[in-house]
Amino acid sequence: MGGTFDPIHNGHLRTALEIQQWLGVAQVSLVPSKQPVHRDAPGCTSEQRLAMVDAAVLPEPALRADAREVASDKPSYTLLTLQGLREELGEHHPICMVMGMDAYLTLPKWHQWQDFLGYAHIIVVARPGYHFEPDEIMQRFTSANRVTDKAELLSKPAGHVLIHEMTPLGISATQVRQLVTRGNSPRYLLPDPVWAYIKDHNLYGYLTN
Ligand code: ATP
Ligand code: MG
Repeated sequence: MGGTFDPIHNGHLRTALEIQQWLGVAQVSLVPSKQPVHRDAPGCTSEQRLAMVDAAVLPEPALRADAREVASDKPSYTLLTLQGLREELGEHHPICMVMGMDAYLTLPKWHQWQDFLGYAHIIVVARPGYHFEPDEIMQRFTSANRVTDKAELLSKPAGHVLIHEMTPLGISATQVRQLVTRGNSPRYLLPDPVWAYIKDHNLYGYLTN
């Protein structure tokens, strides 16, 4: 599951954990982007965003931070990450990329997005405020094969799209940043260690308010 994670919040964490439980895999990786290619500059450095992801997953063995994009000297192109994972895991291992409905809808702006399904499946998770009919969603990919259950999803290494319902959590990093910038507490929208990190490092204008 990739993202800017500026900062990571409970919407990301709950999504990742629910997918891990549903798939029955050992771990879900959270992959913070370095400099996102198709959005405004984040409110803090990639190292700080990674540090907050690290702090958030520390108490949860089912989640891990993947530093490959932050550590890379290349721009954060999802395709490169998927290619890297495919190389590491071999051609038969299923790879699932998890993304929220809002991110999925922006896919046509992503570098070589048409190639993603050659490397991985896509699990699209519901996000409050973004509702679309499955047919509309599937029209995004001409080559996509929609599946609805786990066995079908994992029956091949890549190429499927699955739409997954989640516990709806209407939390966004934008909301967290705005609360901090305005001098309000974002507590309980994100883990306490992440909130502590924001305060310690005066992120999002914390001290100036
Ligand atoms: P911002 O408001 O800065 O865009 P964000 O909350 O959307 O932040 P991102 O880092 O942009 O967080 O999102 C990373 C991934 O997590 C995306 O695929 C996004 O759709 C998904 N996501 C973020 N928040 C939620 C949520 N509350 N529920 C489900 N998915 C989410
Ligand atoms: Mg976002």
